[in-house]
Amino acid sequence: MEARESSGASDDKPGRCQSCHGTGEIGSEFGLASCPDCGGAGYLPSAHMLVEWRARDIERAHGTGTTAVARDVRFLLAELRRSRDALTEITALAQELDDSNPVAALLRYTASQALRLYEVTAERPPSED
Ligand SMILES: [Zn+2]
Repeated sequence: MEARESSGASDDKPGRCQSCHGTGEIGSEFGLASCPDCGGAGYLPSAHMLVEWRARDIERAHGTGTTAVARDVRFLLAELRRSRDALTEITALAQELDDSNPVAALLRYTASQALRLYEVTAERPPSED
């Protein structure tokens, strides 16, 4: 009897890949292969990276060609990336401000939350009143 048998329902670590159970490999008819869900890392990337991966999947599936839908998809993805780049720049600029500045903390928090850079567990920083 294995002590660490996985039931799938109560996996221990957040971000651990459920498809390969953190090993990074899955069995196939040709032997072991890198897990397609985590790329062989054994854990899932940040929500920020998952959004980018999903955007690329959507782009590949619907953003090629000259149809109106393809043009609309390319337009929306370009707007998404432009907005995310701007938020990244805002985050970097807020890092330059003094840590005691409550506006800097709010800027970093808001931009990071929108970019889904980190798992946010703390309360929103207090605003200056
Ligand atoms: Zn995996």
